[in-house]
This record gives sequence, structure tokens and C-alpha cells, in this order.
Amino acid sequence: MAESVSIIEYLGSGQLRFAERPLPQNGGLLALETTGICTTDRHIVAGRIPVPAPSILGHELIGTVERLVDLRGDHVRVGDRVLVAPGINCGTCFRCTGARGGCPNRIVYGLDAIGDRLTGGFATHMELLPGSRVFQLSTDLAADRAIFTELAACVASGLYKAFGSPSPPQCSDVAVIGFGPIGLAAATLVCWYGNPVVVVERDTARADLARRLGFEVSAGDVTVDVVLECAGTPAAFAAGLELLGHAGTLVELGNAADLGHVSVSPSRICLTDLRIVGSAETRDEDFPLALRAVTEAPVDLPSTISHVHRFDDLADPNELFDPPDVFKARIDFEPKGAEASHGKQRGEA
Ligand SMILES: [Zn+2]
Ligand SMILES: [Zn+2]
Repeated sequence: MAESVSIIEYLGSGQLRFAERPLPQNGGLLALETTGICTTDRHIVAGRIPVPAPSILGHELIGTVERLVDLRGDHVRVGDRVLVAPGINCGTCFRCTGARGGCPNRIVYGLDAIGDRLTGGFATHMELLPGSRVFQLSTDLAADRAIFTELAACVASGLYKAFGSPSPPQCSDVAVIGFGPIGLAAATLVCWYGNPVVVVERDTARADLARRLGFEVSAGDVTVDVVLECAGTPAAFAAGLELLGHAGTLVELGNAADLGHVSVSPSRICLTDLRIVGSAETRDEDFPLALRAVTEAPVDLPSTISHVHRFDDLADPNELFDPPDVFKARIDFEPKGAEASHGKQRGEA
């Protein structure tokens, strides 16, 4: 039997199915251990963020290196447990060489497709394309903690774009609006830095979760220096501006899907010297720090994983997006099951 890779194929809004693709015979290869399900994936499946179809979603990637390719950064070996940064910049265009971000040739695992190549983490294996940035993970770091690294790196990159450093200015007060997974990652990162942080969340269950994890929670009657907008709604963006004191900065992290417009007061922005910084692209440089933050922060991240789906036990991939009470979910693949699972169809013993 030809060696094959089991994938979840995205065919367009609301359409996911299991499929098999041939195992590539050369090039870098990662055996997935676990892939996080991101709010971005939910937006894609709901049709709110367009991506190519067919494609393979999944950009929060942890696995074992099976074959090496021309990787950047960490010296990794075959057999190493790694976390893969989803974006690959070309490194040669004027935006890359000028450190401007926004590389027009950027490829993002789980969001882009290259023909029928294995470029997403909702699969037993993924190709490691040349130029990929991978980071070694210690084998005793719980996946339930490590899986928050990509989100924390997104936040660190937003802070870098705002302040020229992946942290808020020392002693500045920070509010995190919206306590979903990215809000949790933001609050965790800021807490790890030692800045005062308050979570603004009106949903009772999510506010309770934030309190249980040790965060101060407010309904929105605070004034701060920095707002990290993680709720991802136009209304939260407008509300965030209202929380800023003089010369405050709002970092917009959540509104990846276009949910419409909102009215704001340009006069208030002018008269109080406010700054608004948007951030979508994550910088590779911020991953090591994000990994340290999620490893060391005194926040019980593992307790917030609400769903762990076993890939082999899934009857229908659309189940992944069904649970209404999901907080953070991930898909587990067979541990280091490369040899064992090659050529084996799903469901076989
Ligand atoms: Zn994501
Ligand atoms: Zn480039």
C-alpha cells in the first residue's frame, strides 16, 4: 500500500472532510503531535475569513521532525519535538530586507495552499518548507501549555509594533478586552512581564474563568495606558479607545474577521494623543519569548483546554467546530506514530 497522510481537507465555508494524500518522498517533514484550533480557524470555517480551497487548516503546530530541510534558527535534529512558527517570509524582497513586515511572498501554514502539498496542521504530517522557523520544545513541557505559544507570540508582536519591544512599557497599566484564548494569552504575557493587568469581559462565564486564573476583572470602568483588543468585535475596538488615558495606545489584535464598522471620536484621539496600532502578522523573533512566558507564567493555562479531540476518534471533522461551550481546543495525533501510522487508514487498529 502506498504510504499516505490522513488530512482534514477544507473545501469551503462549512465544508470539511477526511482525505488521504501521498506522503512526500523528499523535503522536510513533521509528524504532528497536536494542532491547536484557533479562533481564526473558526472564522474560516464560518466563511468570515477567506482562504484557498481545497486547503489544510491548522497553524498552531507542535510535532516531531521526521525529515530535515533548510530551516532557519534553532539547530534541530530529526526526532526533535518542535513548535513551528506558521509564517515563512521570503527573506529577500524589499519588505523583508527592510524589516518592514508584510512580505508579499509570505506563506502561512494553515492559511495558504500550494497545490495539494501538505501545508496545514489538521493532518498527521505536514511538510516543513525551506525557510521554516522551528523551535525546540522540551519533551516534558505539557502540550496544554505549549499550545498557547503561537497566541502569545501574536500578542508580543503587536506590542513590538506599538512600542519597539515585545512588551508594554514598564509600569504601564494594561487592559485586555475579551477573555477568549487570545485574551488569555495576552493577560498571561503581560502578567509574566509584571505589568498591572485588568481583564475587561462582560460574559459571566469568561469573567469567572479570568478570576479563577487570578486576573482582576472589570466591566469596563477603568483607565489604562495600553489596551490589548482581543474580543474581535468592532464594538470592543470602540470601547477600548474609551479606556485609554492621555497618550494611551490601543493594540488591535482581535478583529481579524471583518465584522463591520463602528463609530469612534477622532476628536478624542486627537485631543488625548491616542495611538492605534494594528497587528496581524506574527514575527518569528517573538516565539522564544512567548514560549518562555507560557512556560513560566503563574497561570494555570492547561486547565483552560476545554476539548482535546483525538484525530483517530473523530467520525466527522465538522465535529471540531460544533461544541458551543468551547474555550480552547486541540487535535491530538498518535504520539510519534509516524512509522506506525504510515499507510494505515483512519479507524484501522
Ligand atoms: Zn491563530
Ligand atoms: Zn519577503
